[in-house]
Amino acid sequence: MKDLQPIFQAVRQAADLCRTVQEMHLIGGEKVGKEPVTIADYGSQALICRAISRHFPADGVIAEEQGGQFIELVSDSEKAEITRLLSDILDERVTPADIVRWLDHGQGQEAERIWVIDPIDGTRGFVALRNYAIGVALMVNRQPVSAVIAAPGYPTPDRQGALFHAQGGVAYMQPLAGGVVKRIHASERTEPDSLRILESVEKSHASHERAERVRRAAGFTGAALERLDSMEKYARIAAGDADLYLRLPRQFSNRPFMIWDHAPGTVLVQAAGGMVTDVDGSPLNWSQGWALVNRGIIVSNGRIHERVLAAVAALLAEENTHE
Ligand code: AMP
Ligand code: MG
Repeated sequence: MKDLQPIFQAVRQAADLCRTVQEMHLIGGEKVGKEPVTIADYGSQALICRAISRHFPADGVIAEEQGGQFIELVSDSEKAEITRLLSDILDERVTPADIVRWLDHGQGQEAERIWVIDPIDGTRGFVALRNYAIGVALMVNRQPVSAVIAAPGYPTPDRQGALFHAQGGVAYMQPLAGGVVKRIHASERTEPDSLRILESVEKSHASHERAERVRRAAGFTGAALERLDSMEKYARIAAGDADLYLRLPRQFSNRPFMIWDHAPGTVLVQAAGGMVTDVDGSPLNWSQGWALVNRGIIVSNGRIHERVLAAVAALLAEENTHE
């Protein structure tokens, strides 16, 4: 737990920043001239990397944004806004040079411990005021072992969002604003009509059509289907609020899966007793750079995993005969 306290704080600060940016640019206020995703993305990563640089200075980092891009691609007015937001949230004077230093902290450094950061996952959801997440995982010797995920749009009764974490093989959930920490477990549902299945909203991110064929082959046509942005999908499975998340790329896509999109969720789901595998049932391969080397991702409550793998195998066999 000690290891993750600074990350909890940073991720909460990042979620505050994201909400402020949504309020200023997407709900009221200015709608033109500034890119809300850019501001929130760099601001969120700066906060998380700042915490890592202070509390774990020797650790490496794999994160989506870089200081060089902040200097070159972010407009002056956006830089000024990010700097002001960070100064407000941290209650200290922050300069653009601080931000560049934080963004680049530990990046590309091979170390025994590497923090993997997705400062805003589900940017389409963030902009559309749907679901998004902030995800952090700790890899030790290239195996993800701990995770923190903030899901500001998680459907908790108080609508205040949830903070998930996994450590030592156990998964937990607490209110994003702070409160009681409770253990979470993947569901035990197996009855097809009782299942809750998730997939991406964006069909360019994962094939809706292939997922539907797998559901049909598995006999899951009576299950409830929800489309949801971001790695909140993993959190839903971990908390027992959903049973299956299929992420099959479009058939001829060669875009790799990025490590920051999947490491936090994988740790969380596995710690909650669920399963995360490639399409053939093998574990995800975290050993190569920033990208994962696999053909799809199947996330389940564990109980239905074999049945889904058989349905995916049938789909792949059918696709091969039609090639
Ligand atoms: P989701 O919230 O499930 O739609 O997934 C969001 C993630 O999909 C983003 O963080 C991106 O890294 C990733 N992504 C973006 N474009 C693509 C694409 N064309 N194919 C696969 N993944 C993508
Ligand atoms: Mg992402």
